[in-house]
Amino acid sequence: MAVTRLPRDPGPTGWNKLLANPQPATPLAGKITADWLVIGAGFAGLAAAHRLSKKAKGDKIVVLDAVRIGDGPAGRNSGFMIDLPHDLTSADYGGALDADVAQTQDNRLGITHAREMSNEYGLSAEAFVMSGKINGAATTKGHAHNTSFAKHLTAMGEPHEVYDAAEMREITGSDYYQSGLFTPSTAMIQPAMYIRGIAEGLRKDGVKIHEDSPVTDLKREDDWIATTPNGRVTAPRVILAVNGHLNSFGYAKSRLMHVFTYASMTRALSPQEVAKLGGHAIWGLTPADPVGTTVRRICGTGGDRLIIRNRFTFDPTMEVSAKRIAKVGKDHDRSFMRRFPNLGDVAMEFRWGGRLCLSRNNVQVISKLEPGLFSACCQNGLGTAKGTLAGGLAADLALGQSSPTLSRALAADAPMRLPPEPISRLGANLYLRWQEGRAFGEL
Ligand SMILES: Cc1cc2nc3c(=O)[nH]c(=O)nc-3n(C[C@H](O)[C@H](O)[C@H](O)COP(=O)(O)OP(=O)(O)OC[C@H]3O[C@@H](n4cnc5c(N)ncnc54)[C@H](O)[C@@H]3O)c2cc1C
Repeated sequence: MAVTRLPRDPGPTGWNKLLANPQPATPLAGKITADWLVIGAGFAGLAAAHRLSKKAKGDKIVVLDAVRIGDGPAGRNSGFMIDLPHDLTSADYGGALDADVAQTQDNRLGITHAREMSNEYGLSAEAFVMSGKINGAATTKGHAHNTSFAKHLTAMGEPHEVYDAAEMREITGSDYYQSGLFTPSTAMIQPAMYIRGIAEGLRKDGVKIHEDSPVTDLKREDDWIATTPNGRVTAPRVILAVNGHLNSFGYAKSRLMHVFTYASMTRALSPQEVAKLGGHAIWGLTPADPVGTTVRRICGTGGDRLIIRNRFTFDPTMEVSAKRIAKVGKDHDRSFMRRFPNLGDVAMEFRWGGRLCLSRNNVQVISKLEPGLFSACCQNGLGTAKGTLAGGLAADLALGQSSPTLSRALAADAPMRLPPEPISRLGANLYLRWQEGRAFGEL
């Protein structure tokens, strides 16, 4: 099948720009064979390659990605590897109790796998740390979301701590927040540093990774044959770890929602600005209302900076324009000013957007698509944890191994069908604008 769309990642991700330039890429050239081919070098693809490298020792594993590692969505997210329920379509992230307990167990398996890789490959605490995170509430309504989520966490038996406005100011240096809900078991990553570090480790373990190698055609003869502009890989087993681009390979058509979200990163703050800001040197806030603003303060490679993420747009073409990035950038500037009015001179240095893939019923696509072809896709906005889990499970499935987690994933419903175009696009965007309007103070 010809691949109908290739990934386009709008704007330079600040996370990757803070790092030293990588070695030149080695795009696939010529015809090669492999025991395993993984398409996509994000969280899912690299977790799959890692699992294969452990369980199919000596096998030849090839990974292809259309772009440089760190430039794709895995290097352009906000870096919250969240263990707890994180349903972006719910009012406060929570859902049904039993499902949320199971989901939390699954997310923790993904995080455990990420932590193992991080330890094995010697990643720094800047790249991966189990530090927990705070749901920040800027409004009474946001506080009510936090309160209801805290009740849900109590019912789940999950530890949490409530912060008042003074404690929030002490952490963030900002007067903007009324309250916060701290949960301890989220891992925080510098996404580009993490994903590049894992790729580097895998390379040392013998996994062949070819960047700038978009798969333009995938077909099955006796084995699967993946074609790139200058090469071809023939392999009996292939794992598709391309998240929403599963559609571009012809699968789960009309069942995946392609959503973009956006981020801006400030220039490095001067020592005077750091002093003016106050608060802790490193912290991360997700919004109490899922459509609100995520904020991170970092201190490390690239200096002291703040990162703002907000806005969701539904874009079935999986592409957005530079104009959109600029327009959303103005929203980021307003969100920044509301929180940090005393940093009025601090401009954004990087602005970017990136793809999420959601399903209406919040399920992933971890499955055997065809003989020898497996999927680790549709991470529902939490690809750091769920993608890592999906990659490991798809590798287990391809290896013929079983586990209760894999059985649960295989028993999941298929993603629900979407209404036809343009109804789905117009409906989803109207719904998102309405939700954002209602959550204005959290934006
Ligand atoms: C601004 C922003 C903030 C976010 N914040 C968070 C967060 O805090 N926590 C969280 O969990 N998630 C967050 N996300 C979502 C997260 O980035 C994704 O869910 C995650 O990257 C998905 O992981 P994945 O491995 O499934 O897919 P991806 O990371 O998208 O990796 C798939 C790879 O497949 C490659 N590919 C696609 N088609 C082809 C092809 N034809 N040939 C070769 N390669 C191909 C792509 O280039 C890509 O690198 C955020 C996203 C954005 C944009």
